[in-house]
Amino acid sequence: MRQMLARLLTIAHPDDEYQQRGRAVVVLSLGMIAMALLFVVVVLCFQPNPETSLKLVVLAITIFGTAIILARRGLVDLAAWGMLGFTLVGPFVAMLSTPVVGTAPLTLVFAILIASMVVRSWQIWLVLAAALLGLLLTVMLLAAWSYTPNEIETTVLVAALIMLPMVALISYLSASETQRERAALRREIAERLHVEHALLQAKDAAESANRAKSAFLAHMSHELRMPLTAILGYTNLLAWQAEQQGAESFLSDLGVIESSGKHLLNLINNVLDLSKIEAGKLDLLLETFDVATMLNQLVASVQPLVGKNRNHLVIDCSPDIGIMYADQTKVRQILINMLSNASKYTEQGVITIAAQPECTDEHDWVVFHVSDTGIGIPPEAISQLFQTFKRVVDPPNAPKYDGAGLGLALSQHICRIMGGNITVQSTLNVGTTFSIRLPRRVAQPVAELV
Ligand code: ADP
Repeated sequence: MRQMLARLLTIAHPDDEYQQRGRAVVVLSLGMIAMALLFVVVVLCFQPNPETSLKLVVLAITIFGTAIILARRGLVDLAAWGMLGFTLVGPFVAMLSTPVVGTAPLTLVFAILIASMVVRSWQIWLVLAAALLGLLLTVMLLAAWSYTPNEIETTVLVAALIMLPMVALISYLSASETQRERAALRREIAERLHVEHALLQAKDAAESANRAKSAFLAHMSHELRMPLTAILGYTNLLAWQAEQQGAESFLSDLGVIESSGKHLLNLINNVLDLSKIEAGKLDLLLETFDVATMLNQLVASVQPLVGKNRNHLVIDCSPDIGIMYADQTKVRQILINMLSNASKYTEQGVITIAAQPECTDEHDWVVFHVSDTGIGIPPEAISQLFQTFKRVVDPPNAPKYDGAGLGLALSQHICRIMGGNITVQSTLNVGTTFSIRLPRRVAQPVAELV
């Protein structure tokens, strides 16, 4: 029972406006109590018989104190009407003992101002009606006492009669306007919440579709890789047998099968890697290796590729390049991607692979630059270069270049997983430089950084 009562008294109204009015009641009541205390001082100084006034002040402090407690307990309406009732009736009670005609009309105007803050907008009219009634009572009391108000008191009475409806109207309009604004704000918030909810749902749907796509790609790539590996193995075997049996005429055809198969395998591997990255499942095999040795081995393996378009390959490895701790296979994969692009988009030019150490903000980096003197990339295409399946449109009157637009995106993803990144600088018809910046000591990724 006690618990129920406590809950009933402390329950907060769900309406935000209600709570605001509650705060207004508290602030105004505190102000009224302060005024009442000031009044005590004034009364004690100037009034010879202050008994009634002091009683009224004690009553005021009790009523406004109760209003504060009620408002804090969530009973805002009760608190508001209590304080209003006192503001409306108090002056007349005071007038019964000492007729101070001037204070009553002024207090009524004050009551309406308070009403505009603590009651709902339409209720201001109720307060006005009570105030006008109070005014009528004042006049009737004065007549009953055969009291003739002096000039100032008459002016105050007439002014109050004009001011009361005006103050009520202004209070009503401003309170309604505030309520309208609040309602509009509430509607807007509701709409935004609705949109946010829809967006979250769309995001969830897109993410689950993406996961399904990644799973499908991973599965398909795996299924395609197995027969393709068998095709490549048997092509090698057939080439060996053709050589043994002197059937040289088959060798060139078998060579075509093998190179096409390898190309296809490379593509499938890229798709598989990409789906692993998207699913956050790409693991790094970290090891310590000598950068210069890795570069020399790499250059030997890409020589045939570079020579295809009669390009010349230059290695520029800084003598203090040293060792690094990273996934060597992935670093090689990125560099081969860059070198194969440089070879593809350059003819009879120079391709340079450089490696140099770099120290910034206490971080130790190894930076590889792969430069070519090829066709270059138009400036407007550079921002989209690292997007998946994005290819730069082949320039008119230029040979058509094949490719799936996967290599750069994949390289950038892998590089980021290792804590580095790839940047590019290019001038159309002059050449391109890709800079691959990797930490000298790569850390195992905590989460996917794509
Ligand atoms: P692709 O398999 O099409 O080469 P990439 O992701 O490796 O896919 O490259 C994306 C695009 O970037 C290519 O289509 C090409 O237009 C452009 N590109 C990449 N490297 C170079 C380069 N060295 N010179 C000129 N263009 C390049």
